[in-house]
Amino acid sequence: MSKPKILIIGGGYGGMMSAVRLGKELGTNDAEITLVNKHNYHYQTTWLHENAAGTLHHDRTRIMIDDALNLNRVNFVQDTVVEIKKDEKRVILENGELTYDYLIIALGSDPETFGIPGLKEHAYSIRSINSVREIREHIDYCFARYNNEGQKQDLINIIVGGAGFTGIEFVGELADRVPELCKEYDIPREKVRVINIEAAPNVLPGFDEELVEYAINNLERRGIEFLVNTPIKECNEDGVILASGEEIKAATVVWTGGVRGNHLVEEAGFETMRGRVKVEKDLRMPGYDYIFVVGDCALIINEEINRPYPPTAQIAIQQAYTLGRNMKTLIKGGGQLEEFTFHNKGTVASLGKGEAIGVVGNKKLFGTSASAMKKVIDNRYLFLLGGVPMVLKKGKLKLF
Ligand code: FAD
Ligand code: NAD
Repeated sequence: MSKPKILIIGGGYGGMMSAVRLGKELGTNDAEITLVNKHNYHYQTTWLHENAAGTLHHDRTRIMIDDALNLNRVNFVQDTVVEIKKDEKRVILENGELTYDYLIIALGSDPETFGIPGLKEHAYSIRSINSVREIREHIDYCFARYNNEGQKQDLINIIVGGAGFTGIEFVGELADRVPELCKEYDIPREKVRVINIEAAPNVLPGFDEELVEYAINNLERRGIEFLVNTPIKECNEDGVILASGEEIKAATVVWTGGVRGNHLVEEAGFETMRGRVKVEKDLRMPGYDYIFVVGDCALIINEEINRPYPPTAQIAIQQAYTLGRNMKTLIKGGGQLEEFTFHNKGTVASLGKGEAIGVVGNKKLFGTSASAMKKVIDNRYLFLLGGVPMVLKKGKLKLF
């Protein structure tokens, strides 16, 4: 009898950890496991803001797939998925197609632009190695042009649209990077404007107030400006237009206003909310008992507050563990599938070098202790992915 074919699409947190866990839960003769990813590397999406600002080189963030996975256990196909054929059990790739018995959708997210005109065309977003490399180069180039092109202020105005965790972490890195750029391109620091614009009444809506206050004070002291209660209603080649009608000119606009599930999921005809599938408790697609969804494409309701859990790497990693065990139950036969339960280990957001805020358990963390905790969390993931060698190769080993 031929082995069942398990196909994982997307090699981010959810997809890579699914591949690792399936490799551990199943024997070589139990199933054929294949991972498809756009690139021959996995990247840690959670570090992309550092690459975008230029405070960390992107090669630190990416991990070659063959460094992380045992390719004797998992077949790797480097290609781009263009269509999921859910009823025919096929996935169409740019350069071919693959069939499956079980599909694991782990394609991550797309930027959520809420239909705001001009954002797709004129704003950058922090979403992949390719995108952040371009942001870093673009900012550098604008600074390089400043003294050659009549010191036009727009060239050194940077707008960050949305002050959720991505926006805040990005401006934290810019607070470190801008003084370096100023030195390199002979520009007085006080001339440069980094403006983080947020629609809600405060930054990091819903997060602990004391930690938010710490973050704002810290970032303002380091030259970041905040505009709250200020929705962006349009973006164009000159900058942004606010709901009030006011225009702010900037050669760089980075949109960090939120995410939605990968467009391929909706396009496949699955029912979605902001591109995310409300999965069954065992992580399967409603109506499709051979399709699982993990990571940013999956939506799970936090029943305590009756709202979806935010899409995070933390939840994606935990889902991969449940998925591994459930797939083992399905393939090796018998038994009920396990229900996924999210164990919230806390949230830590970096604010630049040596600075962060966070809540871990009941404890609030600020400054260097929060920053060290962030590195511990990052290193833990690397350990889960590839053990001690991966931590030594890619980890952030200097905690303080
Ligand atoms: P991803 O990790 O984004 O992976 C998706 C993968 O699918 C990518 O490898 C991509 O190349 C591949 N892919 C996409 N489309 C295709 C296609 N068509 N064909 C083939 N392959 C494809 N969460 C936390 O828990 N803690 C944090 O500190 C944190 N920090 C963050 C910082 C930033 C700057 C950002 C942007 C997010 C952060 N998050 C954090 C959220 C977290 O990164 C995501 O929730 C997490 O990456 C989701 O994992 P995923 O596997 O669903 O998607
Ligand atoms: P988000 O949805 O958390 O934040 C987006 C922000 O943009 C919100 O504050 C929103 O009010 C604002 N916004 C929306 N429309 C706007 C408009 N028109 N004008 C101005 N502001 C507008 O999205 P994110 O920050 O990209 O985060 C995505 C996911 O990744 C979240 O689940 C987040 O928890 C997770 N994440 C976690 C970390 C961490 O744990 N350290 C870091 C980054 C991201």
